[in-house]
Amino acid sequence: MSSTPLVTRFAPSPTGHLHLGNARTALLNFLAARHAGGQFILRVEDTDEARSSEEFMRELFQDLHWLGLEWDEGPDIGGPHVVYRQQQRRQIYEEWLARLDAAGLTYPCFCTPGELNIARKQLLAAGKPPRYAGTCRNLTEEQRAERLVSGKAAALRFRVPPSQIIRFDDVVHGEQRFNSDDIGDFIIRRADGSTAFFFSNAIDDALMGVTLVLRGDDHLTNTPRQILILQALNLPIPRYAHVALLQGMDGAKLSKRHGDLSLRDLRKRGYLPSAVRNHLVRLGHTCVSDGWLDEAAMSAEFDLNRLGRAAAKFDEAQLRHWQKEGVARLSLDDFLVWISNQLPTGVETARLGQFAQAIRYNVEFPTDAKLWVDVVFGVPADADADAMARIREAGSEFFATAAQLFAAGGKEFRQLARELGERTGRKGPALYMPLRAALTGVLHGPELGPLLALINPQEIVARLETAARVAG
Ligand code: GLU
Repeated sequence: MSSTPLVTRFAPSPTGHLHLGNARTALLNFLAARHAGGQFILRVEDTDEARSSEEFMRELFQDLHWLGLEWDEGPDIGGPHVVYRQQQRRQIYEEWLARLDAAGLTYPCFCTPGELNIARKQLLAAGKPPRYAGTCRNLTEEQRAERLVSGKAAALRFRVPPSQIIRFDDVVHGEQRFNSDDIGDFIIRRADGSTAFFFSNAIDDALMGVTLVLRGDDHLTNTPRQILILQALNLPIPRYAHVALLQGMDGAKLSKRHGDLSLRDLRKRGYLPSAVRNHLVRLGHTCVSDGWLDEAAMSAEFDLNRLGRAAAKFDEAQLRHWQKEGVARLSLDDFLVWISNQLPTGVETARLGQFAQAIRYNVEFPTDAKLWVDVVFGVPADADADAMARIREAGSEFFATAAQLFAAGGKEFRQLARELGERTGRKGPALYMPLRAALTGVLHGPELGPLLALINPQEIVARLETAARVAG
């Protein structure tokens, strides 16, 4: 084991809502750092000013906090590297660009997007890799000066050294080898002055002391370019772990366009962050335990050696499984807070506690609580078709008897049900289902006794009388 502490980072671009793929990358980086007792950095990659926004950045912080990820350094809390937003690090990039320049490793490129596009198409049509042809590589000083004077905007390219093998050991994919001859000179500063991803991302990793770059494997082929830059500047090269991209249930790569798979959306739909974490940690990473993992257990479980290459698919059925597990683990108080939007006001705390106890295993999302709030504190919705069929089948007589027994009062539900069974000759589901249908309007739900103990007895009698009427 190396003695350098593990430093990971999550480096999102604030150009949209955080989707699950990115949230998974953030979680894995967070866990890797926590597992090793290292540092987890949040760095905002907003060099693309046109597409980045303050609003998305604020949402990003909120989403990550909601998921339960805390960073040790970041734009909002600072840290030894002072600024963690790339827009504010321009000065630093300029200094490092100047060093590359001084080493003769950059040159201005005047090719227009249109020209580059045509060249690309020609290469593709000839069955060749579409790398930059090097048009501006060997311009003379005069030619460069001429173009600059004529006001042509210039991007800056990195001069890729010829015939070098770039190799690295990827934690997930094993040994990787790339030939520099397959990599065209690439842009490190755009014509508008902003630095390109390859450059600022690699420089920041090195300057911020990042020792492990854990990211989606769509970046695998970017890595040799970044290594070339770091080598040229004599900067430390981190370890890399490229995890398989997350796919949507449709098998397509998850992207910001899968709006419904943004973290924000899952949160609005009532998913618990702990449930989302339990699903995400098993996507592209195998856990030894197939049971619920709380925060401590999850970072203890995390193992870089169990990151996988196979495409990982988001699966809502799995997420719902973890949701049920998560809800079952909420304390009564947390459960009440979680469903608070559905609760009526002015109910005493003790009664709310009993209510929570009665319904908690029948609620998967806060909105599910609405039905039971109406049943207990208000008026249940009209019986659904199945419940209606049960009411009709039991018949008027059954409910009239039930209403009489309940009106006499003074007894517990169990006792009353037993007496009703004796009088009507019904037992088991034939006895309980019609009662459930009449009292709640549906055939599923929590145990009846504790639920009915919370309802005003006159209201129960009224519901039974109504059932007696509608049963015909
Ligand atoms: N800003 C890059 C992205 O969002 C970061 C990639 C990386 O983790 O290096 O894809």
